[in-house]
Amino acid sequence: MSQSKKGRLNYRCPACFMREIDMDMFYDEEHDEYYCLRCGYKGDEKDVLRLNEQARYRYKMLNRRVTSFNEDNEPLSSEVFDAKKE
Ligand SMILES: [Zn+2]
Repeated sequence: MSQSKKGRLNYRCPACFMREIDMDMFYDEEHDEYYCLRCGYKGDEKDVLRLNEQARYRYKMLNRRVTSFNEDNEPLSSEVFDAKKE
């Protein structure tokens, strides 16, 4: 791993963010990859953006229960989830 430096843009580590930890990633110029010092995740810009989108998506659906999925496990339908009623 080459010298640690921040990338052109700051990206949050998607692996840490899914555990509710907000970590900035570092950029490895040699491999054109972003990596996280905390958890060891690394990926290219496309991966980081895609996974961060998924992580945000999880929070957007926080109050909903998914009732059906397609074959890629993306939700097709959902309903409002009220924990107090369970
Ligand atoms: Zn991380």
